Amino acid sequence: MRRILDRALEGDPLSPEDGYALIGAQGADLATVVQAAAALNVRARPHRRVTYSRKIFLPLTNLCRDRCGYCVFSLGDHPEWRHPEFADTLQALGGYGSTPEYVAAMCKLVLEETGLVPHTNCGTLSVEELEMLAPWNASMGIMLESSSTRLFERGGPHHGATSKAPQLRVQTIENAAKLGILMTTGILIGIGETPEERVDALLLIRDVAERCGNIQEVIIQNFRAKPDTTMRHAGEPDTLDMVRSQAVARLLLGPDMNIQSPPNLNADHYQEYLMAGINDWGGVSPLTQDFINPEAAWPEVGRLRRTTADAGYELRERLALYPEYVRRSIRLKPDPTGEQGHVSPAIRQRLDALADADGFVKPELERM
Ligand code: SF4
Repeated sequence: MRRILDRALEGDPLSPEDGYALIGAQGADLATVVQAAAALNVRARPHRRVTYSRKIFLPLTNLCRDRCGYCVFSLGDHPEWRHPEFADTLQALGGYGSTPEYVAAMCKLVLEETGLVPHTNCGTLSVEELEMLAPWNASMGIMLESSSTRLFERGGPHHGATSKAPQLRVQTIENAAKLGILMTTGILIGIGETPEERVDALLLIRDVAERCGNIQEVIIQNFRAKPDTTMRHAGEPDTLDMVRSQAVARLLLGPDMNIQSPPNLNADHYQEYLMAGINDWGGVSPLTQDFINPEAAWPEVGRLRRTTADAGYELRERLALYPEYVRRSIRLKPDPTGEQGHVSPAIRQRLDALADADGFVKPELERM
C-alpha cells in the first residue's frame, strides 16, 4: 500500500491493480489512503480553497427515453424518442424538432434575459446538437455513472436504459471536445457496481480526460433510494464508502482534476469529504430544490461556509467554469493546432462581468 501511495504522490499514473488495492483498503491502510488523497489535493491547491457554484436548477421536462431503476426523473435524454406526445409539445412550444433544440433556445433566453450563466445536462448529444447548445452554455455535463455492463442485465438498474451505454456517454464527451466545450462527468456509487467496477469507471474517465482534454470536473455522487422506484429498498452507500471512493478518485485522477461531491446527499457527515481530497461542493441553490434528489435540501450557503472553514478550508464561489478555465483557453487534444477559445463571445462577456482576476466570482458579488 505504501509503495502505491508513494507512486501516486510522485505523480505516477496508477494501474487498475493499484486502484483495486486502494479501494479494498481497510483500517489503518484506509486511513493512509485518505491522508495521501488529502495531501495530493492540498499540493495542487495550497490556498486551501474549496468551491461551490450558486445556481438555479431548471428541469425543462421530467420525461426521458429511459427508465433507470433509481430515477424519479429530471430533464431526461431525448424524451421525444419514447413519448410521441412530447414531440407534439415541442412543436407547439415553438416548432422545436428535438429536446436539445428546445433546451438551446431556453439557454439563449436565460443568457439574454437574466444574469445567469447556463450549464446544461441533457444526456447523450451528437456534434450537431452540441453545436446548437454551445453558444449559450459556459460548460455542459454528462455523468458516466458507471462503466459496468453488468448493470444492463435483467433486474439491473440500467436494464433497457440505452442512453446509459458507457460508450455513448464517452462519445458525448468526445463530441464536446471537438467543439471546445468543457464537460463535467462523474460516477454514481452504490447502484450495484462492485468496488473494482468503480475503479474501472474512474480509469475510463481518466483515459477520456487525457485523450480529449475537456473534462473540468469529476463528481463522486452517492445513490439515494427513492420511493416509487424499483430500487426503493436498496441499501445506500454510507459516509465511509463515499470517503473511500473520493480518496481513490483523487489518487487515480491526480492532483489537478477538480473532484466534487454534493453536500445535500449526506447532510450530517459531508465535512468528512474534505478530508478525502475533494475540492468542490457543486451547484447549491438558494431558490430551487434538487430535482434529482427532491428529498435532500441543499445546505444554506452560510452553513456550508462555516462547515468548510471548520475543516480548514476557505469557501469560494465559482461559475459554471472552474476558475482555472475562466481566463485562459484550453488546449484540446483532438485539435493538434493548439489552443482555441472554448466559450462564445456572449458567454465570454458574461464571465468577464462576473469573475475576478483569479477566475472566482468577484467577492463583491458573492452573497451569504
Ligand atoms: S437517470 Fe437519466 S437517463 Fe436514467 S431515466 Fe433518469 S433522466 Fe433518464
